[in-house]
Amino acid sequence: MLNLSGKRALVTGIANNRSIAWGIAQQLAQGGAELGITYLPDEKGRFEKKVKELVEPLNPTLFLPCNVEDEAQVEETFAQVKENWGKLDILIHCLAFANKDDLVGDFSNLSRDGFQTALNISAYSLTRLAKAAKPLMTEGGSIVTLTYLGGVRVISNYNVMGIAKAALEMSVRYLAAELGPQNIRVNAISAGPIRTLASSAVGGILDMIHHVENIAPLRRTVTQTEVGNTAAFLCSDLASGITGQIIYVDAGYEIMGL
Ligand code: NAD
Repeated sequence: MLNLSGKRALVTGIANNRSIAWGIAQQLAQGGAELGITYLPDEKGRFEKKVKELVEPLNPTLFLPCNVEDEAQVEETFAQVKENWGKLDILIHCLAFANKDDLVGDFSNLSRDGFQTALNISAYSLTRLAKAAKPLMTEGGSIVTLTYLGGVRVISNYNVMGIAKAALEMSVRYLAAELGPQNIRVNAISAGPIRTLASSAVGGILDMIHHVENIAPLRRTVTQTEVGNTAAFLCSDLASGITGQIIYVDAGYEIMGL
């Protein structure tokens, strides 16, 4: 039986009710985990209000601003985890960003700034958050991030985010190797395309979804809940032997050739 009771989970990346992180938070809560939620703060506080209202039914015991580009906010987030929880069992890294202009057209047009922004927010942040989580995962732990097939194969318009996902997937392996002796497992879920705020920035996302619906063995794409179920499994003791892996939750699309 999947049982996450007694586990404390920090979930990043909820923007709205379409967010994959929202699907994950719901399934972790259903498994009995205690939740801490971080959100990306904006000047007018709109994200804070929206996310707070959304997550309220899950009764999070921590609700914190955390822009992963901001060192002070990352440090304060984990200081709050330490002060309020004393330990951490689960870290969900479910965030990414690239400039919209870099998610369409010729890949070679990518600017140095665009490369740095995408890699910093979408890939380096996993390592930064894992570094902060490491001393708090005193009873072992599970770290889960989200990736996409565009980090392994060329997908039209995915461009710089493909480079970021390749770096992210390799970071999963290096982190798993380093943290394994502390019984901290690190895995990624490679999700099929789902309509969200982030994915709508990728040129032609609807065409990508329709293509998957025609080709994938299950003849559909996947839901946030299906990704959430896999994340809950990876965070549970049922997955105690799994680390350093990229698990495809994509209705089987990844296996298909011609
Ligand atoms: P989303 O827009 O709901 O979530 C992206 C999140 O990233 C948002 O909550 C946003 O606030 C956060 N974010 C952006 N910049 C940040 C920063 N500097 N600091 C902190 N948070 C920041 O979209 P989503 O599709 O749920 O994306 C979640 C993850 O899933 C991403 O890593 C994405 O690449 C991955 N993914 C998405 C799909 C898809 O088709 N939607 C497929 C595979 C993987």
